[in-house]
Amino acid sequence: MRLDDSRESDNVEDRRGSGPMIGGRGTIGIGTIVLALVAMYFGVDPRIILQLAGGGAPTQQQQAPAHAPPADDSRARFVAKVLGETEDTWTQLFKQFGNTPYVDPKLVLYTGATPTACGTGQSAMGPFYCPGDSKVYLDMSFFDEMKRRFQAPGEFAQAYVIAHEVGHHVQHLLGISDRVDQLRRQNPSQGNALSVRLELQADCFAGLWAKHADSARHILEQGDVEQALNAASAIGDDRLQKRSQGYVVPDTFTHGTSAQRVRWFKRGLDTGDIKQCDTFGASQL
Ligand SMILES: [Zn+2]
Repeated sequence: MRLDDSRESDNVEDRRGSGPMIGGRGTIGIGTIVLALVAMYFGVDPRIILQLAGGGAPTQQQQAPAHAPPADDSRARFVAKVLGETEDTWTQLFKQFGNTPYVDPKLVLYTGATPTACGTGQSAMGPFYCPGDSKVYLDMSFFDEMKRRFQAPGEFAQAYVIAHEVGHHVQHLLGISDRVDQLRRQNPSQGNALSVRLELQADCFAGLWAKHADSARHILEQGDVEQALNAASAIGDDRLQKRSQGYVVPDTFTHGTSAQRVRWFKRGLDTGDIKQCDTFGASQL
């Protein structure tokens, strides 16, 4: 990935090393196991996590003071540049859509656990977006896990993960997530199927972002797209379920299969057209 010309976003909130730690190293309880399973689905809807964690009420904990990451931290600067790329791209695209202006989300870097408007965020959940405070939460150790455990290394694979979470923010701004919540309440048995469509759309939005950011500033290098496709495929639900259980149970899919994730990311990337990201109207995913 080539980010030399990219601006660093000011919207990175660095809470690393200052947040409350929940569950020290070496303690493994049922909760930890549940969260570890959830961890395999990055970008999970935090409301789903809260159900699993048995919580639900937004936390009122004292927030660690927010500050920007140190200038010599190359990994944090990389995240800030990718976030800046998403800001510039979506601001532009929202202008084309018409009425709604794009509002930048914040991205919180943390380690271990941190309070969010959606409950306590834990790194075992993987990166996620909380619509309650419009923030993306990221423990960068997830990138190490992608590389080691999912064999999905590379900067652009990481950028795809960030862009997917920003995709959820776009869905929030466009009112899509609210509509899906409504539908979910009316029709609980469709909950999983709706989640899959929401997730695949976030993948499509990630591809859309990459297409427009690359047209504007040539951020893609040889092999980058393959990295992202590899990541999308490595973290598909079927692949993850096979790894953890040895078999696949389609009813419990919430992110889509590897093939579906690849297909929708690619659709956004190839067309650059948001209308092509209508996973809700698509008869086939
Ligand atoms: Zn997601």
